[in-house]
Formats: sequence, structure tokens, C-alpha cells
Amino acid sequence: MNHERSRELYDRALSVSPGGVNSSVRATMPHPFFVERGDGGHVIDADGNRYVDWVMGYGPLLYGHDLPDPVESAIQSHAAAGPMYGAPTEVEVEHAEFVARHVPSVESIRFVNSGTEATVSAVRLARGHTDRDKIVVMQGGYHGAQESTLVDGTPENPHPSTKGVPAAFAKHTLPIPFNDPQAATEVFAEHGDDIAAVLVEPILANKGIVMPVDGYHETLRDLCDDHGALLIFDEVITGFRVGGLGCAQSKFGVTPDVTTFGKIVGGGFPVGAIGGKAEIIEGFTPAGDVFQSGTFSGHPVTMAAGKATLEYAAENDVYEHVNRLGRKLREGIAEICADRAPEYTVVGTDSMFKTVFTREPPADTADGCADGCRQDPDCGRYGTCPKTGADVGKAETDRWERVFWQEMKDRGVFLTANQFECQFTSYAHTEADVEKTLAAYREAI
Ligand SMILES: *Cc1c(COP(=O)(O)O)cnc(C)c1O
Repeated sequence: MNHERSRELYDRALSVSPGGVNSSVRATMPHPFFVERGDGGHVIDADGNRYVDWVMGYGPLLYGHDLPDPVESAIQSHAAAGPMYGAPTEVEVEHAEFVARHVPSVESIRFVNSGTEATVSAVRLARGHTDRDKIVVMQGGYHGAQESTLVDGTPENPHPSTKGVPAAFAKHTLPIPFNDPQAATEVFAEHGDDIAAVLVEPILANKGIVMPVDGYHETLRDLCDDHGALLIFDEVITGFRVGGLGCAQSKFGVTPDVTTFGKIVGGGFPVGAIGGKAEIIEGFTPAGDVFQSGTFSGHPVTMAAGKATLEYAAENDVYEHVNRLGRKLREGIAEICADRAPEYTVVGTDSMFKTVFTREPPADTADGCADGCRQDPDCGRYGTCPKTGADVGKAETDRWERVFWQEMKDRGVFLTANQFECQFTSYAHTEADVEKTLAAYREAI
């Protein structure tokens, strides 16, 4: 594969942008390929190389790179009408109505411009609603590039996970391990009167893909109820991907007080949203006292793209298609691993998939979760499958990044560049894409 033009572009980019990229995960080694255009489930780079694309923009693309006609025409007509106004438009009301109709926890919703902005606003809202400062988060959880959640450590010793965040901010954040009901109970026993909210991804989706163990979210729900704290599900990545239009909360049957959205809800354009019970969401200004505002919020082109995206999914076999291909990939990769790397754990659900390069072979490879780890206590792998972000962190993360990812790229398969970010099937992907990908896995694993 020739990468001459991508290398040249990266050289230029390094002179004018930090690390040559606008989002850190894109700086793949030794240099990223620059995308020229998308085509269905594929991308074509600046040197004309074609890849099957399972990155899907890191989550927003449900249809791959060819939008269904109604989505494309909704975008074009709203862009042509003049991009935005600073006054409300009908399409944002319609989009809000659609989301409220389909997502169990949502009566009222505020649209913003990124997942980060959604979680920032949700945390502020929870603090305003409860008059408390502390939030509980999961170690290894991801809620965007925001001060309150870029925090590592333990409830006793939380600290910023990056330079630039004051230690004083981090002390209001209580990071606990995912899937550990005991740790959650203890943090509430210790800090219950000061906890404004628990902020949790229903599935840890930015640190491997870790499914919740049975009853975990129910425990969080009960603890929040008992202590007057809000349960916030960060569905930026799972929203309208896991559990179809009802999102992960409908799949798991647990209703949060507040839900944050992003990615798919904007149909491929920058977006975020905070939804929940009207009584809580109306804490935002101008209805309430918690300041929230944004020049681009509810952008008409984004709202049109998001609404047309979800409507098309409601009327077509979109989720059947993406979930079927997801299952085929998970089952196919599991078979390859059973043969070549039995210590690896295949994870994912619906249209999400990943392989965690776990190091320890299971005691018993008897078939349990053939379609991605489900945290099934009867599965032979239950003792070794990852249950927390830290478990995923112990995997062969360098092998993914430095060897496996490169090998897959050389075979024309574009995966997410590190061990932690998940991969996605889209409506544009085909059985042939799955076959090609499995053939490459067979060689590269
Ligand atoms: C992607 C993501 C975010 C951040 O969204 P941005 O649009 O990148 O700011 C927050 N939470 C979760 C769970 C995400 O996957």
C-alpha cells in the first residue's frame, strides 16, 4: 500500500496543529491515513487505498458513508435554507418529540453540540438540582473532555487524569470500579449526603466493551433513590445503537433520571443532548436556575439530520441489519480466537464489537457467550473476562496498537486505533465486508 500523500499531508498538519490532528485518538502510528471520501461501509484514503471502515466516525454513523435519500435531502434542504438563526425552528421541536416518544426516561430534552457539552451540562444540572457537589463515576468510564470526569484514582484519593485540571476540581469526583455493587454501596455509605449523581455508561464502551453484570444498574438505581441522588446514564455512544430506538436503558430495563446523548442523535453532525424527567430538565435556564446556553445548540442542519436518521431507522430494517452483522462478526472472531488465541475475549452487543487481548486463558472454554461477553456466570470464561476498566487496561494494549491494528490496516480493514475504543457495524456494511474482515482477523490474530 502506498501512503505517500497521507505522509505528506501529515507532515504539513504537524506544522500547524498539535500532533497533526484535531482529536487525539486519530494520531495513529507512524502517521494516520488521510481520508479522501467514504463509500458505503468503506473509506478511501488520499492515496486511493480502500478500507472496510468499522470506525464509523467513532460512533455517530449508523448508515455508513451513504446516507439514505430522506436523510440526505433533509440535510441539503436545511443547509440551503441558510445554516442557522439564533431563533427556534420547527425541526428541533420535532426531533425532541421523536426522542421523547421513544426513550423511556425522556420527557424533556435540551440539545447541545457535543457529548462533552452534554455531560458537562448534566453534571451541572444534577448539582443544581440536589444542591450537592460530588459525583460518582466509573474508573475507566469516559464522558468526554471535561474537568469533572477526567479524574482517576479512588473515592479516598481522586486525582486529575490530565495536566490542566485543578486537584480541587477532582476532589468532588468519586471514581469507583464498574460492576462492583459493594464499592457503590460503600461510597454511598461514606458520602451519601454529598452525592449529586452517579454518572455511568450503561455499557463501558470506551474502555474495551464491558457489559454490566446482572443487577448492577438496579443496585445503582436503588442507591440513588435511597440517598436522593440522580442516576445519569451517559448514552452518548449506546444511544440509538444498543436497544434500538429505546437505547440501552430499554434493553436493560433500568430508567435513569437523566440521559446524555450525542453521536447518532445528530445524524453525523456535531451534537449532544441532555434528556430526562421534565421536572429535572426544567432546571436549565430559562425554565430554571442552572445556566445552560449555546450559539449552535439545536442547529437546524444537525436537527434535520438527526431526526431523519431516527425516522428512517423506525421505518426500515436498520437495527436488524446492523445487529445481524455485529453478531456475525462477534461469532466469527470468537471462532478464530478459539483456534488461535483462546485467551482473547470477544466483547460487544448489538452493532458494537471488539476483541480484548486478555492475557489469561479461561479455565474452561466451554461455550457460554458465543456472541460477545455477556457476563454470564455459567460461561467458562466468567473467571477471566473483563469486568472493570482496569481489567481491560491489563490486556496486551501495545499489541493492538503497534502490531494488530497495522496488520489489519495493511489488509484493507480500518479498526479503532487502540484497544479501548469500540467498533461499529452500519447499514451500509455487507456480508462481503464481514467475510473480508474475518479473513484478515484469521491472518492477523
Ligand atoms: C464520545 C463520548 C463522549 C464525548 O462526546 P464528544 O462528542 O466526543 O464530546 C461522552 N461520553 C461517551 C460515553 C462517549 O462515548
